[in-house]
Amino acid sequence: MKDTRDIATPSKTKEILAKHGFTFKKSLGQNFLTEPNILRKIVETAEIDQDTNVIEVGPGIGALTEQLAQHAAEVLAFEIDDRLIPVLQDTLQDYSNIEIVHQDVLKADLKKTVAQHFKQERPLKVVANLPYYITTPIMMHFLESDLPVAEMVVMMQKEVADRISAKPGTKAYGSLSIAVQYFMEAKLAFIVPKTVFVPQPNVDSAILKLTRREVPAVTVSNEKEFFKLTRAAFQLRRKTLWNNLLHSYGKDEATRQWLNDSLKEAEIDPKRRGETLSLEEFARLSNAMENYRVAGE
Ligand code: SAM
Repeated sequence: MKDTRDIATPSKTKEILAKHGFTFKKSLGQNFLTEPNILRKIVETAEIDQDTNVIEVGPGIGALTEQLAQHAAEVLAFEIDDRLIPVLQDTLQDYSNIEIVHQDVLKADLKKTVAQHFKQERPLKVVANLPYYITTPIMMHFLESDLPVAEMVVMMQKEVADRISAKPGTKAYGSLSIAVQYFMEAKLAFIVPKTVFVPQPNVDSAILKLTRREVPAVTVSNEKEFFKLTRAAFQLRRKTLWNNLLHSYGKDEATRQWLNDSLKEAEIDPKRRGETLSLEEFARLSNAMENYRVAGE
């Protein structure tokens, strides 16, 4: 008789792990979801339909991959662990719209891989239960690639989700919030308790829904310098913006003059702390710094 249970049911997950003699590698962030209702909620949050192509990072034994394949046109999943490739071939054998790529997603040329594997171009979404040890690098890898990702619905440690979606003036707000919110609108969709994973992690998780903005949140004349400035502003957490700027850009007279002029033009008090500045204020300051840099050369 055909087994109609979802992969994510605790009993089926257990059977799959036993059948393949699989043991978890903590170093690869392997915490598998064993609650089909949460997987369904993730797919609902991502609003996937037959006209959507989905990229998944880290399919594990295929729990989320299976649900994605039931709703999406095509699914492409990157898995680094070679021991999981034969497992996935077994658990997902009934689906013809899934491609598993055995690769470290951080080393993948995303644009090229997507062009090679999806049979047809369609709106693209990233849906994943991310390996927690590299959540931020994976997010940045997708954001900085020129892939037209319309939406990302991703699970991560709640604390990281809080940082990404944080508003200015809060403790969680930092350069990561800005790097992501520059490209995407970030919303915390729901919390996932640690009890629904095997093995159980130490902290709760959250699902973050990121929707690509048509144009970046603010207009900057030099994107690279803008991100450099936002990182500089948060380097020393309890110091003023002025101290952080001197720390990153230099303390010599010419640099002080340049920073002073730029802050004045941007109408930003140097005694403020980095975490109080909005994206608009960072953009204003970055643009002023670019103006004065050009004028000074
Ligand atoms: N999707 C499954 C689930 O929800 O049950 C598993 C998620 S588990 C948190 C993370 C998965 O990412 C694991 O399967 C792990 O082997 C894989 N992984 C870890 N590092 C990776 C990398 N650099 N590239 C691709 N996959 C990776």
